[in-house]
Amino acid sequence: MAGGVASTPRGPAAIRGLPVRPPAAARAPIRRLPPATIERIAAGEVVEGPASIVKELVENSIDAGATEVEVLLEGGGLERIAVSDDGAGIPLTELDLAVQRHATSKLSDPADLARISSLGFRGEALAAIAQVSRLRLVSRPPDAASAHGIALDGGRVVERFEAGRAVGTTVEVRDVFYNTPARRKFLRSPAAEQVDVLATVERIYLAHPDLALSVRSGSDEVARYPRAAKLEEAATWVYGPDFVTAQFSVRSAAGEPVGFHGVLARPTVSRGTSVGIQLSVNGRAIVSRTLSQAVRTAYQDYLPRTRFPVGAIRLSLDPARVDVNVHPTKREVRIQGERELADTLRRAIRIALVGGSQVADLVRSRRPVTEGPQGTGRERAPLVAAARPLRPAPSGQQTRLVEPGPAPRIAGTGRHPALSLLGSLFRLYWVAESDGDLVLVDQHAASERVLYDELRATGRLGRQELMDPVRLPLTPRQRSAWATNQELLRSAGFTIRPFGGDQVRVESVPSYRGRRAEARSLPALLDELADGGRPTVPEGLAERVAASVACHAAVRAGDAISAEELGRILEALYRTESPAYACPHGRPVLVRLSRSRLDGWFLRRGT
Ligand code: ADP
Ligand code: MG
Repeated sequence: MAGGVASTPRGPAAIRGLPVRPPAAARAPIRRLPPATIERIAAGEVVEGPASIVKELVENSIDAGATEVEVLLEGGGLERIAVSDDGAGIPLTELDLAVQRHATSKLSDPADLARISSLGFRGEALAAIAQVSRLRLVSRPPDAASAHGIALDGGRVVERFEAGRAVGTTVEVRDVFYNTPARRKFLRSPAAEQVDVLATVERIYLAHPDLALSVRSGSDEVARYPRAAKLEEAATWVYGPDFVTAQFSVRSAAGEPVGFHGVLARPTVSRGTSVGIQLSVNGRAIVSRTLSQAVRTAYQDYLPRTRFPVGAIRLSLDPARVDVNVHPTKREVRIQGERELADTLRRAIRIALVGGSQVADLVRSRRPVTEGPQGTGRERAPLVAAARPLRPAPSGQQTRLVEPGPAPRIAGTGRHPALSLLGSLFRLYWVAESDGDLVLVDQHAASERVLYDELRATGRLGRQELMDPVRLPLTPRQRSAWATNQELLRSAGFTIRPFGGDQVRVESVPSYRGRRAEARSLPALLDELADGGRPTVPEGLAERVAASVACHAAVRAGDAISAEELGRILEALYRTESPAYACPHGRPVLVRLSRSRLDGWFLRRGT
């Protein structure tokens, strides 16, 4: 095994075939890498900001066999980051080497580069971080009576000291980039950096659910991820209650050369970007376009084109098949046979998704799937059963024609021909005739588009106080997205107050033209805000809020609305400046079927 320290510590049974970590006593000494090996190491910037520092430090803790890691932030990590673990520690004699470039305990034979099983191996991170900050490293191995430390300013040793602490290591990093003003400029607000750190911690936890992780900001605990026996359990801490009601599992078949275990949400839960898909290989959180795309393709036809699935997938592969030495931050890896792997994964997800029940139901209602977190994902209910046959609903309201008499008519504009409404289907699609064509309108998408455009034009929403304020649990990341965007959310009409623990109380919600957003939409909105990553233009954020509010305040699928109300929506749609044929989430608002197309169906070509 490479360098003697494997990447996945406890619970290796959770994933077949992962290398098992030897006991901490087998820790190898830190040594300088030979020049020939150094030359083969992918060089580049490891330190981009607080999040990448936290990533490197927590990964070091994992490599040291820690079971518990605590991250402390001050000023979003810009002022101070401290990562403490209960791992194997560093002997006093090796403290100096630990902060030197190209000195590592994880790679002893250059040949090991071809099968790395630890998260670190280049011996670069501590040195690189020390170079651009004030760093203190305090550590106590199991056989030492006390802890010893070393302090550096901009890479220069300024102090050595003895300290008291339990077995393990603490690395403290202050004043990131204090000595490199040019790079300091690219740091963002403390709140924004903290969102990034939380995203990083989340990714690491989903790759290592058996690691207890907590994040404090000053004296506040902003995230606590307990040691989880199963990925399913870990996912509930990261993704929150909506995810739990929608989740299902996928697993590779026994005896396959690649192992994977994933937990994903049914299409009722989705995101606007791919960041909700968290992948890891042998305990390392990675990004992979090919694999993410495979996950997405598995959802084809179940999610609108602009939406992305949410979930975590852990892969276990023979380390010889994974080249982690291709990217400076090791976020991207090269996997031998990635295409076939992607294919296997896509197929497994598809089967679990389609085999599970109620997929098509999302179009009609947002009824949560009742299957709990323990669901096998193998319940077989045919898809067609979910898409109920066209028959009158008990209320008789599902499908109806507009009142007899002249069909409500929406006057044309220069760009859009006039339109006459004929009736509605499933309380969702309206059937209309326009300029000799058959037109189908999605009432939700139309309403959403109009609200969105008006919202962006007027920039201001109403605020509706809730008679019964709604209490909601937020995930750590949602909480920090709230902290980052408080002003924006307030001006959009949300009044949100902390309510102890992970709960908040929503006291008012955005309203617009007599419709109001649902308080329950807040977590999803916060997820989308957090997904924004690094919005450079503030407008981008405001647009996101507008899109989300519009979505949640819009007429829903299943709402019984009158032809007049739809008529008003369509008139507004016709007035908007934008092309108006896509809702803010990119789904079509109306579909036009030409007369000649209909004729074709009935073999009346040429008439
Ligand atoms: P790498 O992880 O690539 O080896 P680093 O610069 O991150 O390089 O760390 C250098 C060395 O310091 C590691 O190889 C390891 O021996 C030691 N080390 C760093 N962090 C810890 C920790 N939290 N616990 C124990 N040892 C550590
Ligand atoms: Mg490291």
